[in-house]
Amino acid sequence: MLVGVLGGGQLGRMLALAGYPLGLRFRVLDPVAEAATDGVAERVRGGYDDAAALDAFAAGLDCATYEFENVPVSTVQALAERGVRVFPGERALALTQDRLLEKRFLRELGVATAGFAPIDGPADVARAVAHVALPAMLKSRRLGYDGRGQRIVREPADLEDAWQTLGAVPLIAEAFVPFARELALVAARAADGAVACYPLIETHHRDGILRLALAPAPRVSAALQAAAEAIATRVLAALDYVGVLVVELFDRDGQLVVNELAPRVHNSGHGTIEGAHTSQFAQHLRAGLSLPLGPATLTGHSAMLNLIGGAPPLHALLRVDPRAHVHLYGKQPRPARKLGHVTLLAPDAATLTARVEAFAAATGIALQA
Ligand code: AMP
Repeated sequence: MLVGVLGGGQLGRMLALAGYPLGLRFRVLDPVAEAATDGVAERVRGGYDDAAALDAFAAGLDCATYEFENVPVSTVQALAERGVRVFPGERALALTQDRLLEKRFLRELGVATAGFAPIDGPADVARAVAHVALPAMLKSRRLGYDGRGQRIVREPADLEDAWQTLGAVPLIAEAFVPFARELALVAARAADGAVACYPLIETHHRDGILRLALAPAPRVSAALQAAAEAIATRVLAALDYVGVLVVELFDRDGQLVVNELAPRVHNSGHGTIEGAHTSQFAQHLRAGLSLPLGPATLTGHSAMLNLIGGAPPLHALLRVDPRAHVHLYGKQPRPARKLGHVTLLAPDAATLTARVEAFAAATGIALQA
């Protein structure tokens, strides 16, 4: 079977790597000169709105998926016109590429989010910030990721500057959530409605970029896990969703507030490659191909450390800890760019903490603020 992937980044690369044992082949569409998927998948080099590129991409595909949510919705429609089914589908994509639509959708489902207000022009900024109160997060409605396109505003005097530095584009003002920690739920839904959720993952960010993900998250009660799964299940059903969905959450002392949804495999779930009975990538493919979902259970404790901006040489990483699972995406170093990740496994949380601390200290990998 031939699976199309919109986007040639590391998520596409890891999807392909997860699909080969199942006998799948992959074709990627991406306009960039060099893609992380090159070497593991054939590629049509072209824009997402280029009709000839879409023809070449679509020819002979059994289905397609996307590995980032800024693929134009019109691309999914163009593929449908060419007879290619795209999962998770158009509605999930349209909602998650606009923070305002996403938050309204969540509120309609009765899911808790930060308070929010839209900003369509400079005249709305003060009113929107008054609505959510200071401090507030101003975020671009579209095309934001890894903390880009957002600013925290603490004083009314910062408003004008924030509007300008965010590019004078439509924004959303969000109330600042004084969370105790951040969590992520990796969930999957098959076309027949079956849902599988992994244990909650604790995520640690710096400058808006994920640095460390711990699975299972420590101190998770059965009630907290159930509350997260209830949110995911409601979202999945409402969208008649197929594939992996990741729900990013703020934990306010046991109360869950959704930060955002990712309609795809996600960085916080990379530890499932070695740390779960089914990786998020294999799970996404199983869902999309109407195969039975695999068990979303963990094999032990895992820590996923991102390699950002620069990475120690491979031999250095493996010398520090020969049991480390190193993933390098083949990308050129650039500030704030995700170049790879390392997963460390342990039978229990205490052993894992010791291993992570020793590894981070010896390699100089920065984990937290
Ligand atoms: P995002 O791009 O929306 O995932 O935001 C990146 C990071 O910024 C999150 O993981 C949080 O650490 C922080 N953040 C985003 N929105 C809020 C908020 N409303 N209140 C507090 N922190 C936030």
